[in-house]
Amino acid sequence: MERLESCNSIWLIDEVLMQFCRVPRGCDPANAVSAPWQRYYAFSDDPNSGAFRVALDETRTRWLSSCRHRDPCPRCGQEMTGEVVMAPPPTAAAGGSAA
Ligand SMILES: [Zn+2]
Repeated sequence: MERLESCNSIWLIDEVLMQFCRVPRGCDPANAVSAPWQRYYAFSDDPNSGAFRVALDETRTRWLSSCRHRDPCPRCGQEMTGEVVMAPPPTAAAGGSAA
């Protein structure tokens, strides 16, 4: 069983049964048991670019392609390190050092 991580999903690829399924990243891959598996007819992988794709039909005209998530990731790295602005807790305003 091949396991590939793209920026949005974890791909599980069963090369014996020629089936794959995708579960959202952050989910426990064990939950993939309940995820829908799809038949594929070919698997193409480019380790250099990180791109990979599966053929959805026998004639290999329809492909589902994705790209591996890397660390650091040029595709979603900026998003991962983005700042989150949060409001201070209500108690922070009270009881501080008064002027
Ligand atoms: Zn990524």
